Amino acid sequence: MVNTAPQLAKFACLDCRTVMKRAPLLPTHPAMRRAAPRPIEVRPCPSCGGESYWVGSNFRAPPKHDRKAWDVVALLVRAGLPYCKVQAPLPLPELAAMGIPTTKVLGASYTIGPWPTTMAAAQAFVARYGGLSLPFWRPGEPVPPL
Ligand SMILES: [Zn+2]
Repeated sequence: MVNTAPQLAKFACLDCRTVMKRAPLLPTHPAMRRAAPRPIEVRPCPSCGGESYWVGSNFRAPPKHDRKAWDVVALLVRAGLPYCKVQAPLPLPELAAMGIPTTKVLGASYTIGPWPTTMAAAQAFVARYGGLSLPFWRPGEPVPPL
C-alpha cells in the first residue's frame, strides 16, 4: 500500500516562537521533496499571523520564554540558514593538510554545523556561511533558483 499522506515539515514562527508541522506547498518535484537545499518556504503563522519559516528537521525549538535563544534562531533563519543540511566546499589544500591524497579528487565538501546557540557564535556563523544561504519562497511567487 502506498502512503499518500502528505509529508509534513517543520515550520517555526519567529514572532510568537511557535513550531508547527505543516504540509509544504513547494512544488513536489522529487529533487525538492527531500532534504535541503531547497528554498525556505515562508507562510503566515496560524497563531499570530506573522511569518513562519520552514526549518530543517534538526531544528529543536528553545523554550518559548527564552528570548535570547529565539533571537539566535531568528538571526540564523532570516540569514537563510534554517537548521538544515548545508554543504560547504572543502578546498583541496585543506584536504591535503588533513593528510588525504587529492590526486584523484575532483572536489570535496562537508556539512556545516553544529548550529550555534549564542548570538556571538551565530553572527560568526552567518559571516562564515552566509554565502551558502538558501533563498526564501512565499506561496504565489516563482520558485527561486538554488
Ligand atoms: Zn506566530
